[in-house]
Formats: sequence, structure tokens, C-alpha cells
Amino acid sequence: MVRSIGILTSGGDAPGMNAAIRAVARACLNKGIEVYGIEQGFKGLYDGSFIKFDRRSTRNIINQGGTILRSARFPEFKDEEVRKVAISQLEKAGIEALVVIGGDGSYHGAMRLTEMGVNCIGIPGTIDNDIPRTEVTIGFDTALNTIVEALDRLRDTSSSHQRCTILEVMGRRCGDLAVWSGIACGVELIVTSEIGYNEEKIIECLKISKQSDKKHAIVVITEGITDVHALAKKVQAETGFETRANVLGHMQRGGRPSARDRVLASRMGIFAVELLEKGEGGKCVSVVNGHLEGLDIIETLSKPRETDFGIYEDARKIR
Ligand code: ADP
Repeated sequence: MVRSIGILTSGGDAPGMNAAIRAVARACLNKGIEVYGIEQGFKGLYDGSFIKFDRRSTRNIINQGGTILRSARFPEFKDEEVRKVAISQLEKAGIEALVVIGGDGSYHGAMRLTEMGVNCIGIPGTIDNDIPRTEVTIGFDTALNTIVEALDRLRDTSSSHQRCTILEVMGRRCGDLAVWSGIACGVELIVTSEIGYNEEKIIECLKISKQSDKKHAIVVITEGITDVHALAKKVQAETGFETRANVLGHMQRGGRPSARDRVLASRMGIFAVELLEKGEGGKCVSVVNGHLEGLDIIETLSKPRETDFGIYEDARKIR
């Protein structure tokens, strides 16, 4: 029977992480399990930055973006000697198991620790929705709604000035933010790494729009594909559309978590504690066919994230 659990948030922050922290803490306390917040991800584990939680420690955070435990990039954690120090810090504090909230990098850290004898459960916290074998990650829904609001605003000014607007959104390895927001906002073109980048095709499509007397156009594109400002200049020169590029950036990371993210995070937090109670480790909490499951982390990380190309098809059908 596990007596003491630590929680940490690692990698990129995502709205809803606080709701997950709260759920883990409350589920533990309700079961009589001690619970510690670990600050700044694996860095805090190495430094021994632990805060013993009581019920009040997680009050008023369910609706807050970011993470009260803060996050950090700590590449040193790949080194086994560094992890040994972290484990000795856990032993000193009597923490027997961990819940790690983060992306696939954080899952690797959780896996390494489990291999060294500390049971860890991963919870997917990343706005990009880029974790394999889970239908959704914590933060995706909130970030999506932030993008939708931005695109709606851009549509107002874009149509008033008869412009083409290009919006770059996050999702370097997974274009879900672009595809979902693109459909939700009825944009002209969606460009992601899954579809591939074909500048000629983009310009051709916008030229046809302009010639068919369309008054404005919106293109949503994921980060890391091309320089959107340079693309805007080319589009303007070749299509006759006055074109502006916008990069939404870190705005997408912040903000109050949506109701969906709060519920998902709360349920995943409870589920993670239940897995640790059963003595399980090296697992991650995933949504499979709408239900929570505890899947093996190694197997999960060895799989590519499956792209739902059906949604791209649907986007094309209603362009
Ligand atoms: P994310 O979890 O969002 O993918 P990162 O890739 O930055 O973010 O990973 C978060 C942290 O996880 C890293 O800063 C590092 O401390 C730890 N980590 C990443 N990869 C490994 C690994 N192979 N072994 C051990 N720890 C790792």
C-alpha cells in the first residue's frame, strides 16, 4: 500500500495542469495517503524542493492556468547519476511514488525512474495533443478555444479590409490545433506538417479564391513549417490579396482552463492515484474510446501518434 505520493509538472505548461494537481492531492488526502508537491519538474526532484500538501494547498487553483508547481526544462535528468540523487531525495522525504504531468519528454523521465524502482504514472499535459495513444491531452481544448477566439477576431478585420490573413499556431509535431480551429472557424486553408507544405498549391488556391471574387481569406498554419511573414509577402505579390501574417505564440499556453480540460484533468488525476494504489508504475493515463485507461509508457512512446486524416478530408469538403 502506497503511503506517500509526489506530484510534479514538467515540460511545457498547459491549462488544466492545476486541476490535475488538485485532483491528485485531494484523491490522496481522502484516502489517507500523504502527498507532496514537487516544484519545477525534475529539477525540483533533484534539488529536493518538496512541499507537503494539505487540503488548503490546492484550494482556488482548479480555474487557474499555468501550474502552481511551476515547470522547468532539466536535460540533466537524462543522466543516471542525476536521477540517483533525485531518488535519494525522495527516500529522505519518504515519497514512494510519483505522478508526472507533462509531455513525452516527461514520460521518458517517468519511465527511467520507474525502471530504477520508483513507481511513476504519467498524465498527458500538453496543448499540442501530440501524445500517442490518447485521444486528447490536458490543455488542448483550452488552447483550441483561445485560437478560435483569435481567428474570429482576425476574420472581422480580415473581411473588413478584404485581406488574406495567415495565422501561425502551435503544434510542431501534431497539427490538431490547426485542423480543429480551422474547421471551427471555416478558414480557407489549413497547413500542418501531416499534410505537408506546398507553397505553390497554397498560392494557387488563394489565387482562385481571389479570382472567384472572394473578399477575404484565412490560412491557419502550424509553427515550424515556414516563415509566415515571408509567405505573406509572396502571397500578396502573387495573388493580389493584401496579406498579413500573425504569430499567436505563447498566448495559446495561458488562460483559464476550459470546463472540458478541468474535468479531464480531474478524472486523470484520480485515475493516476488509483493506479499507484494498485502498485502499478511505468504507465500513463490515456483516453481510449472516451474512457480512461492506464497504458504502458514504453509501448506508448514507441508508437507514432496516429493522425486522423478523416478530419483533414472533412475540412476540405466544407471549404
Ligand atoms: P515535454 O514533457 O513537454 O515533452 P521536454 O521534452 O522538455 O517536455 O521534457 C521535460 C523534461 O523531462 C526534461 O526537461 C527532462 O528533465 C525530462 N526528460 C526528457 N527526456 C528524458 C529522458 N530521455 N530521460 C530522462 N528524463 C528526460
